[in-house]
Amino acid sequence: MTGCHKNPARAQRREIMTQAQSFDYTRQDAAGASCTAQAWAKVPPSLTRDERAQWKSRAAAQLAAHDAVLVAHYYVDGDLQDLALATGGCVADSLEMARFGRNHAAHTLVVAGVRFMGETAKILSPDKRVLMPDLEATCTLDLGCPADEFTAFCDAHPDRTVVVYANTSAAVKARADWMVTSSCALPIVQHLKARGEKILWAPDRHLGRYIQEQTGADMLMWNGACIVHDEFKGLELELLRKEHPQAKVLVHPESPQGVIAQADVVGSTTALLKAVVDGSAAEYIVATDNGLMHRMRQLAPGKTLYEAPTAGQSATCKSCAHCPWMAMNALQGVVACLEQGSGEIVLDEAVRAKALTCITRMLDFVESHGAAPAGLVPHLGAT
Ligand code: SF4
Repeated sequence: MTGCHKNPARAQRREIMTQAQSFDYTRQDAAGASCTAQAWAKVPPSLTRDERAQWKSRAAAQLAAHDAVLVAHYYVDGDLQDLALATGGCVADSLEMARFGRNHAAHTLVVAGVRFMGETAKILSPDKRVLMPDLEATCTLDLGCPADEFTAFCDAHPDRTVVVYANTSAAVKARADWMVTSSCALPIVQHLKARGEKILWAPDRHLGRYIQEQTGADMLMWNGACIVHDEFKGLELELLRKEHPQAKVLVHPESPQGVIAQADVVGSTTALLKAVVDGSAAEYIVATDNGLMHRMRQLAPGKTLYEAPTAGQSATCKSCAHCPWMAMNALQGVVACLEQGSGEIVLDEAVRAKALTCITRMLDFVESHGAAPAGLVPHLGAT
């Protein structure tokens, strides 16, 4: 690479740019559900109140009949979250989902979320059957980091410790030294920096930059982004803050820099939830997938919540602050996968075994540092 030695920072920027993915997630002709339009088209139709009650009861019966437990992410439909809690499952972020599924005695895990979450469950619990309501539910961070290209990127930088975000395929995890979630990324990178390690980070560029700013670590970054969080807008957020000057601003670190810069709290979904429940403020502006609002409203019913602005009311699939792949999860899918045995996660054993190493390293780190770090990062005076 010409000029690398004369200007390392410029060379690094150039390397980052070479990793840009050009896939348009809003295109109409992509295969399967790998674009937002296809994903929205696969979202099951809304149900009436009676239908919801009937599907919930049918899903609960199927869970019991198959010795299954429902492990749901905060971003999925509220009915699924309620069903998980009512049937002994969990509603959590990806770190806690992984731990819950591993530790639970059920023979079958039904993972309501996106594919990498199902894969992580299978990596940790190879003897359990892992089902998903829709196997095509994916994630732009996962799609934007293909294993072959990522492996070549790693091979070109053998001096760096490879740290990948949970939102990656099993094959990408198999190439990594560490997996992190937004709950534990900061202490793990701090730990690696203290050991003098240089880091290769993938795939989310916003989270990576935030962690780099907080730790000062030497991080070479893949250029991925979450299509939902990438749409939060700094200027519109400033206007909303003027309308609600008492509101605390809670931001997930997959959001752009101009949004994070205005945050009172930057953190994982669990950390943002905790900030609302424990915070003394009465109003909060929340910059993350609006699926989290369901649990926030349940646990903090007296608080007023505002969704952080995306591209405006006229936008549909790209900037509605809701992940189309999370939206593909529905009660009907839970029933279908259990009744038919469909949507099973199957992994190549060699890939699974390799991917296990980086996940186990993360879980061991989290456990050896006491309770799971909540990812709560006081940024500008959080309450
Ligand atoms: S919200 Fe973003 S990071 Fe989460 S699954 Fe959807 S695309 Fe991926």
